[in-house]
Amino acid sequence: MNVLILGGTTEASAIARGLVGDARFRPVLSLAGRTRAPAPPPVPWRSGGFGGAAGLADYLGEHAVDALLDATHPFAVQISRNAVTAAALAGVPLLAVLRPAWAAVPGDRWTAVPDMTAAAAALGRAPRRVLLTVGQQELAPFAAAPWHDYLVRSVDPPPAGLLPQGARILTARGPFREADELALLVAERIEVVVTKNSGGTATGGKLAAARTLGVEVVMVERPPSPAGAVPDAAAALAWLHQRAASACERGE
Ligand code: NAP
Repeated sequence: MNVLILGGTTEASAIARGLVGDARFRPVLSLAGRTRAPAPPPVPWRSGGFGGAAGLADYLGEHAVDALLDATHPFAVQISRNAVTAAALAGVPLLAVLRPAWAAVPGDRWTAVPDMTAAAAALGRAPRRVLLTVGQQELAPFAAAPWHDYLVRSVDPPPAGLLPQGARILTARGPFREADELALLVAERIEVVVTKNSGGTATGGKLAAARTLGVEVVMVERPPSPAGAVPDAAAALAWLHQRAASACERGE
């Protein structure tokens, strides 16, 4: 089976690793190309957009893809929409893989907001020391609230034009350990953490650290989830194994 994995996530890499050495599958991992030096994928890979849903449908046909896995990030809404449309156009089975969202536990001081503009507004009018962990593409609302002291953490440095005035940059790639997150919040005297509700363990340590210190977390809630999604790489691999077994029974 030719398998296309739409990635850029821990889950996509785990699925790819799970297919290495399994002669039933020829996987290709697709990355958007946003990160300058992505971790080397364990399987053949491609990088960059397809040119919308129609472009992705063309790719599925041209490469005789038998199964499409949408293992993109919970906040990567456009590519997930494109996957649904393209899979329907090309008649290719699609499975979405979506890690569960984080849920507040006793001791958490979360302020839930629907989007990045609301997150910036939730910081208030009084200057605060803010750890911004929202990636590098959605900084504009914070640039419009320049009275806060921002520490912006992202994999690659954000373009200078997007940064809030006076913001400092911390380039780092997860996973982040809880003890290191605690040390960072203390050393930087962080008063509020802003994050998307990405879910997963790789970047969850900051939530536990914030809880320990009584630090507020402004949590940007998720967009609606794709239908019928499975929660992890193991479930996605089980789906692929099932499809391979069915194809074998049919003598394909
Ligand atoms: P997006 O807004 O949903 O997608 C924008 C466009 O980028 C898509 O229409 C597609 O271009 C291209 N694209 C996205 N993912 C792709 C992939 N895996 N392979 C090939 N093309 C892809 O996505 P985004 O939020 O910018 O995220 C970009 C990538 O970063 C995703 O792969 C996602 O898994 C990863 N990521 C995102 C976040 C986040 O917070 N959004 C966090 C961590 C990782 P065409 O229309 O030209 O095909």
